[in-house]
Amino acid sequence: AREIRLAARPTGMPKPSDFEIAEVEVPSPGEGQILVRNKVLSVDPYMRGRMSDAPNYAESYRVGEVMWGRAIGEVVESSVDSLRPGDFVMHGLGWREYATPEADEVRKVDPEVAPLSAYLGVLGMTGLTAYAGMVDIAGIKEGDHVFVSGAAGAVGSVAGQIAKLRGAARVVGSAGSAEKVRYLKEELGLDEAFNYKDGPVAAQLQTAAPDGVDVYFDNVGGDHLEAAIGAMNMNGRAALCGWISQYNATSPPVGPNNMGRIVGWRLRLQGFIVTDHNDRMPEFLAEAGEWVRTGRLKYAETIVEGFEHTPDAFMDMLAGKNTGKMVVSL
Ligand code: NDP
Repeated sequence: AREIRLAARPTGMPKPSDFEIAEVEVPSPGEGQILVRNKVLSVDPYMRGRMSDAPNYAESYRVGEVMWGRAIGEVVESSVDSLRPGDFVMHGLGWREYATPEADEVRKVDPEVAPLSAYLGVLGMTGLTAYAGMVDIAGIKEGDHVFVSGAAGAVGSVAGQIAKLRGAARVVGSAGSAEKVRYLKEELGLDEAFNYKDGPVAAQLQTAAPDGVDVYFDNVGGDHLEAAIGAMNMNGRAALCGWISQYNATSPPVGPNNMGRIVGWRLRLQGFIVTDHNDRMPEFLAEAGEWVRTGRLKYAETIVEGFEHTPDAFMDMLAGKNTGKMVVSL
């Protein structure tokens, strides 16, 4: 069996030599553990933070440690009554072909209800992040004018659609390619979208959101956050979810500069971490599950085949090659 370990802490964009594929024995489950053969692995931006030893909300990987994170697999061996061989479970042990999670720490998932990959995305952590940020942190309400950055990604694509489903007057998204802009407008039904690589974000946002922004869902930070602050209406709310424009940066960004706007317009900028909102999962699943079933919430996935391509999938996700959730299928 194979597993993928952190070989070196990256400087800037991670590269193949920062990862190492190791050959190990198929593990034997200990007391209270089950043996799982992984089927789908998640690659997520927060893993870039874990690869670094800089202080972050997420604990750092040790060099030589397996890149742990969410994965879903089939139970092969179990000594607990609640889980039988052939069941599918999600666990947190990450990039390995076989895992031995504690039976009471896994979440059972049903492939009859949704494809396994969906539990890593729209019906999992990234979907809940969009929901918690848009509903609980930003307090989305009818008539709001909304801007979502990183809008074609796993979190952003769900966040923009939740805003529409909750009655926003106008939802604008930004993304990094013409094809993603087309996807946002034609398939997800956003009112306007732009490619942030086409020109300064502030100018493009002003054109796309002529009535300003009441709610900003930030996945990107940097110039996107600065532009959004400059466009925000009185009492605007920003849910600060991520700052991916800086995850590979080698020098700190400047800003925010527009303090007069934050103070004068009484803006509320609030960071949040999805794991604080895990108690919202049942409500989220009830609402989003129904939206997905009825086709009102669409989701894309970019699926990379082959365990050995997991680092490539991760690096491609950081470079924007995904639309919707990036997952690896084994
Ligand atoms: P995505 O599916 O959105 O994938 C990452 C995307 O980021 C890429 O597709 C790329 O799209 C975009 N990107 C990369 N570099 C830049 C850049 N320099 N400027 C602008 N966009 C860039 O990932 P997720 O949906 O999983 O995560 C989205 C954000 O949400 C991240 O910031 C992540 O850290 C955060 N997050 C936060 C959580 C929380 O609890 N607070 C939980 C989960 C995620 P493009 O082609 O558009 O550039």
